[in-house]
Amino acid sequence: MQSNIQTFIGCDAEYSEASIIIFGAPFDGTTSFRPGTRFAAEHIRMDSYGLETYSPYLEKDLEDYHLMDIGNLDLPFGNAKRALKMIEEKATEIFSANKKSFLIGGEHLVSLGNITAAYQKYPNLKLLHFDAHADLRDDYMEEKLSHASVMRRAWDLLGDDNIYQFCIRSGTREEFQWAKKHTFLEKFNYDTLSERIESIGKGTPVYVTIDLDVFDPSVFPGTGTPEPGGIIFKDMMNIIKGLQGLNIVGGDVVELSPHYDASGVSTAVACKVMRELLLTMLK
Ligand code: MN
Ligand code: MN
Repeated sequence: MQSNIQTFIGCDAEYSEASIIIFGAPFDGTTSFRPGTRFAAEHIRMDSYGLETYSPYLEKDLEDYHLMDIGNLDLPFGNAKRALKMIEEKATEIFSANKKSFLIGGEHLVSLGNITAAYQKYPNLKLLHFDAHADLRDDYMEEKLSHASVMRRAWDLLGDDNIYQFCIRSGTREEFQWAKKHTFLEKFNYDTLSERIESIGKGTPVYVTIDLDVFDPSVFPGTGTPEPGGIIFKDMMNIIKGLQGLNIVGGDVVELSPHYDASGVSTAVACKVMRELLLTMLK
């Protein structure tokens, strides 16, 4: 007999042997436009069975490694601070056991809990951020903890020149001006990714956060804040292939809102991005 627990495909190892621990953070309490990301993790787990565990892109198979999906956290809706604390505590437990922590959002704010725990373990952490939005507002409607401020809160921890942002095509004038002094922000594209990766180097601990609205809405309509002018799936595969040499200690995929895409294609895209990113984190 086995318990009836659905995991992401190929991620059902025992905790003691797992090198990556996956958990879901079903929180969309600060979403400014269309909510629904709280449903992403279940949909990703279910639809991941439409994938193979083998990646012909990376020539690696999830079955050759030990990953464990521990399910979702039970987060308090409407209390961002407490939700973040719970995410941080779970991630801290994972990092303390010398494992990697992978988070399924949820809105983008949830990344902050995982990033905070990663930073506490690795004070020289670098952050790679793929998104349509800069997420650098100091506050959003006077809320410091908002999905529109998540990279600014990450900067509060990491400081100048440790955050690398790619494909950004939306933000206020102030955000773009602020980024010039404090982060490496590439508008619209990822042409500078390979030189940035080279400067980061192989040993440095890196966290990768993928806000799935980085994709063009024609590829990925299932999200709360669709922003035309994004990348296509092949671009993401080029990006992920580029990350191979890095020491990625933590990561996440956020902002899938499955009910806005009745075709299910957005969830399929999220699943495949997640498989490739997990395989990239495995050595
Ligand atoms: Mn975002
Ligand atoms: Mn976004």
